[in-house]
Amino acid sequence: MILIDTHAHFPKSKTRTKDILNRAAEQDVKYCIGIGTDLKENDSIINHALMFEHLYAGIGIYPNSEMAKRPATLTEQLEKQIKRANSGSKKVVIAIGECGIDITEWHNQRPLKEQLELFELQILLAQKLTLPVIIHNRNGDEHILKLLQKYNNQNLQGVVHCFDSTLEFANKILELNFYISFTGFLTFNRKSYLADIVKEIPLNRILIETDSPYIVPKGVKEERNEPKNVKMVAQRLADIKGLSVEQVAKETTNNASKLFEIAFN
Ligand SMILES: [Zn+2]
Repeated sequence: MILIDTHAHFPKSKTRTKDILNRAAEQDVKYCIGIGTDLKENDSIINHALMFEHLYAGIGIYPNSEMAKRPATLTEQLEKQIKRANSGSKKVVIAIGECGIDITEWHNQRPLKEQLELFELQILLAQKLTLPVIIHNRNGDEHILKLLQKYNNQNLQGVVHCFDSTLEFANKILELNFYISFTGFLTFNRKSYLADIVKEIPLNRILIETDSPYIVPKGVKEERNEPKNVKMVAQRLADIKGLSVEQVAKETTNNASKLFEIAFN
């Protein structure tokens, strides 16, 4: 069985990253996509992905990162990072993101208008570089749909990560041929509504992830989540759908190979 954690945040330390990857491999999690959310993190995950064969990078500007800088400036710098990272023999950056929309009342936010501009510029960059987008969504359903619909006919690909919305939104995302990615939220009692949504989504549109170090699955004793625990997400998905974990692993890994255009085998 080969699993891939399609969304994890790694520490800056090379040795800690190496240990995390080794513990993941012991749980059949052979590949990981490390995520960058600002320019500094992007550099860090690029360096890790250059060093570790089975680690790839998704880099982007999170809606509330680098708030002092203009969206256009940030996207220019992002483009340079990607081009530099992918100039060698390994395609290191395989997606743009996480990027998207984050609307909450509880912390310092980039104004929505500027979030939309930053997200749209990253969509345009993804199209220019023919990379898929990894989308962060907190209370941004309508804004995200509007933008994805705008670019839908121009062969934009991607995934809505850490899904925690409604079936209605999921269906609209599927209509746009995007993938939907689930985390350890699937194991939370208070998020039991997600199981009903999972049942309605065909397995060939689903990816799995940990979003580690966040979202520790139920039953895990450690304080920090790790990519190794994506196996628990796969198991939970299998239970909900009445399939074996091997089937879920096979299909979700295959989905990731298609979306990110990397042979994860
Ligand atoms: Zn994330």
